[in-house]
Amino acid sequence: MKSVGEHLDDVLSVVTPLSPMQVQLIDAHGCVLFEDVVVEWPLPMFDNSSMDGYAVHAGDLSGASVSSPVSLKVVADLPAGTDKVVHVREGTTARIMTGAPMPSGADSVVPIEWTDEGVVDVRVNRAPAPGEFVRRAGSDVEAGTVVVAAGSHLRPAQLAVLASAGRDRVLVRPRPRVVVLATGNELVAPGTRPGAGQIPDSNSIMLAAAAKEAGAVVFAVGSVGDDPRELIEVLEDQLVRADVIITSGGVSVGAYDVVKQAFSRLGTVAFDKVAMQPGMPQGFGRIGPDETPIFTLPGNPVSAFVSFEVFVRPALRRMLGVEPLERPQVRAVLHEQIRSPEGKRQFLRGWLDVEDGRYVVRAIGGPGSHLLHGLSQANSLIVVPEDVGHVEAGDAVTVMLLERRSA
Ligand code: AMP
Ligand code: MG
Repeated sequence: MKSVGEHLDDVLSVVTPLSPMQVQLIDAHGCVLFEDVVVEWPLPMFDNSSMDGYAVHAGDLSGASVSSPVSLKVVADLPAGTDKVVHVREGTTARIMTGAPMPSGADSVVPIEWTDEGVVDVRVNRAPAPGEFVRRAGSDVEAGTVVVAAGSHLRPAQLAVLASAGRDRVLVRPRPRVVVLATGNELVAPGTRPGAGQIPDSNSIMLAAAAKEAGAVVFAVGSVGDDPRELIEVLEDQLVRADVIITSGGVSVGAYDVVKQAFSRLGTVAFDKVAMQPGMPQGFGRIGPDETPIFTLPGNPVSAFVSFEVFVRPALRRMLGVEPLERPQVRAVLHEQIRSPEGKRQFLRGWLDVEDGRYVVRAIGGPGSHLLHGLSQANSLIVVPEDVGHVEAGDAVTVMLLERRSA
């Protein structure tokens, strides 16, 4: 039997980062930038007001107070976006809105709340400090600065900076396109009432959502029956739009396991027993003219989920160019004792919490790989190493976090 580490190494030795391409900013969300983006102009681009108020010479207002306000003549009105060229002489002012360019002459802004809001003359009852309420050109970034560096993960704020720098497209590693396909004669589409012996296909939506969460663009194409010809036909159709294919079911030793038969025709897929529970039968290889990587995951829902977490998610992250490849792990105190098969790495569904300032984890449900409801209540996987058969309550275990918000 192959170890989990060996199988992951085999996967990662085949999967390479996708070639960079120019995409629209919204499509770059969640991707990794492949260029240093330099802003040609300063940010802000020009001196502008940070308040709705009046652009003034601070010196005109020294000593202004509620009991002795200073009156200024209003010579212009400056909304945001104005291109009016205005000069404010001493003793005068211009009404100005937040974001409007500062008129020449003026050095400060009086917020509207410090005035009587006059439009011909305005009475000011408090003096700003020189420069107050003015956002200086370049106070955020000087012209010529790298505002978002190659390798940055593009989140909403980074995208906003790119837009401020005038970009509508950037060079990124694109999202991997993932085709998800389930196999099994027993499967019906969710929403269809199952007949005798049938079950809804729950793996497709689970794997599609997991791939999407990992940053992929997903095409979930439903299920095919246990018929090698049908499977080959669908895969041949789907290959053109796939950077990765994920199938589930049909890889164990059952009489109707067709995935193995189908692949000998399309490429090279190795079917291995990996020393883990759940998820022992794993297939990985490359098919079609572009040698598209394919994961053939076991059909049991928990096995498919764990296999995705352990092998597919790191591969998708490698393609996206994001690090680290693996989920964060913490050490936690085990709440009640667990048994684990020796010689296999076990992944138990867990609920991780913080109690009295330390991580505590509880196993949820049993080890059965059909226990989907238990999986749905977990926020983590408890990882029991190959050489450990038994962990006592109160001992420390390694826990893989499935959600950022957990604990
Ligand atoms: P298999 O790997 O095809 O032998 O399937 C193992 C178990 O997983 C069987 O009980 C299947 O009915 C179940 N199974 C396979 N594929 C799916 C699926 N797409 N959704 C839900 N259960 C599945
Ligand atoms: Mg099957």
